[in-house]
Amino acid sequence: MDTRYVGRFAPSPSGYLHMGNLLAMLLAWLDCRARGGRLIFRMEDLDPVRTSPAYARAIADDLRWLGLGWDEGYPDPAYCQSSRTELYEAAFRTLEARGLVYPCWCSRAQRLAAASAPHPGEQTCDPRCRCARLTEPEKADLLAAGRKPAWKVRVPDETVTVQDGHYGTCAQDLARDGGDFILRRADGVYAYQLAVSVDDMAMGVTHVVRGRDLLASAPRQSWLIRTLGGTPPAYCHLPLLTDGGGKLSKRLGSLSTQALRSRYRPEELVGKLAYLAGLLPAPEPVSPAGLIPAFSWDKVSREDIPIADELI
Ligand code: GLU
Repeated sequence: MDTRYVGRFAPSPSGYLHMGNLLAMLLAWLDCRARGGRLIFRMEDLDPVRTSPAYARAIADDLRWLGLGWDEGYPDPAYCQSSRTELYEAAFRTLEARGLVYPCWCSRAQRLAAASAPHPGEQTCDPRCRCARLTEPEKADLLAAGRKPAWKVRVPDETVTVQDGHYGTCAQDLARDGGDFILRRADGVYAYQLAVSVDDMAMGVTHVVRGRDLLASAPRQSWLIRTLGGTPPAYCHLPLLTDGGGKLSKRLGSLSTQALRSRYRPEELVGKLAYLAGLLPAPEPVSPAGLIPAFSWDKVSREDIPIADELI
């Protein structure tokens, strides 16, 4: 076992897994297992409103059913974000002590979105909102009026470059392309970007494999981890599965594992996923372990992958 490789599964239990999530988990598992690494299963149940323990159990059950085992993690509460608030609080205080944090009073809808991983087209808050420039008396007035702020981090005007293992160079001018982002919502829930960075750092994650909808988050996470004194992991993003109408989303309930499990054996589903990813010439049944010997990112497309009807 290569103890220097630490990978992770990091689903949010906001619904049942769908085929796109399963493909991400399969590739994270393969990348880790093919290199003899250690795999962590972290449950990203930050948001008490959008996630539930029942979905968390269903996700773990689906991964076991598919044959994607992990070495440590869920259901140990130490690997559930809902039990890790003190760590996020400590990181928040560190950033605050450096003068990098400021209150933001933008709309509730914008702030609520911040605990979830951002998906294309979703904006968690105006990156250049005027809250960053409020004077002390203006802030005092808002606080006196009982309006609770969210808290944002002030990013530097700096270009951060991430070498993605599949998509290559991803350079982002933090201030111009992403802007300041939310660390903690007004209701006290810590935001996705802070929690995922703190966890990857604290858990010693060295390799992150996930859907390319989060590629644009990698430079911010890399910057946040460095700012907090850590070493960013290597990132490797994979294409998204599409069903004609765009990226599959478990929030839309499309192609959920619950439905797929009633129709297929685990090895049939793994074979379909591997075929869609380009790892098999035909959708033949195979176990996850059976894919390890020939696994290579060179076979995986960089274009998003449409699912043909006969494959679902
Ligand atoms: N929990 C996030 C999601 O399910 C993924 C986080 C990550 O891989 O960085 O969208």
